[in-house]
Amino acid sequence: MKLVRTAAELRAELDPARRDGRAIGLVPTMGALHAGHLSLLDAARERCDVVVMSLFVNPTQFGPGEDIDAYPRDEARDLELAAAHGVDLVYAPDPAEVYPAGFATAVEVSGSLTRVLDGDPGRRGSEHFRGVTTVVAKLFNAVGPRIAFFGQKDAQQAIVLRRMVRDLEFPIEIEVMPTVRAADGLALSSRNAYLDDRDRRRAAALSRALGAVERAVAAGATSVAEALAAGRAELEAEGIEPEYLEARDTDGLDPVQSFNGRPVLVAVAARVGPARLIDNVVIGGADGRVPPTE
Ligand code: AMP
Repeated sequence: MKLVRTAAELRAELDPARRDGRAIGLVPTMGALHAGHLSLLDAARERCDVVVMSLFVNPTQFGPGEDIDAYPRDEARDLELAAAHGVDLVYAPDPAEVYPAGFATAVEVSGSLTRVLDGDPGRRGSEHFRGVTTVVAKLFNAVGPRIAFFGQKDAQQAIVLRRMVRDLEFPIEIEVMPTVRAADGLALSSRNAYLDDRDRRRAAALSRALGAVERAVAAGATSVAEALAAGRAELEAEGIEPEYLEARDTDGLDPVQSFNGRPVLVAVAARVGPARLIDNVVIGGADGRVPPTE
């Protein structure tokens, strides 16, 4: 496995593979790898000839007052895990490499996709997604992957990136892999490291809430309000007040009034102790994941 720190080295390393028409797979990460990330690396290894992992805590997707300084970093451990999971090339640039002096361009998916849920101005805001789409567009240009792998855990991010790929005609397939969970259902996240024992136990209420919504729908609830109330009760039992617990369609992220067989994203965000956690399920989809862009 090779480690590079500049986009020029990255391109030079990948030129032969691109020339030979070999399939390059890209797994973008912010490091602090856990089994969720590893599932993406394994999928890339299975489907692609060359596997590239990026390791970059992207400052432009963190808002003022967010946790960029506290964000867990352990590059040596991440490199060991990446090598063990068959990564060929790691791109771990410094912020100044990605955003040199005078950097002035952004890639933005406009409209409601980036303004609701996490993009709500009172939450992370659409600036968060502008940071994500800008850095991922740069990665796509530098790597030229055939397939890029993302997690269902960040469903809104995957939906936004699929729209960017469609709108800007990137010749790249976005593969969304299922959320990997701990035994008690908590979605794995680098931010789970912020939780003490008590908050770690409380945090499992997010996935229980989503499970309660799923069960309510399976038991015949068609009203969204009724199904979400079942989820909210699970959070309340742990004293968790969600930032949101909402049901939206998986295409345009418009609110839905009923569960009628079309895929519906049920997404939750909540602060548990010092950590802001998110999770989601897709109800009514073929495989529980955000469906491909039509
Ligand atoms: P991050 O390092 O948090 O930016 O995540 C990098 C990639 O891993 C993103 O595509 C995430 O959606 C994905 N990911 C994070 N947590 C999980 C998880 N528990 N299961 C599956 N994928 C995940």
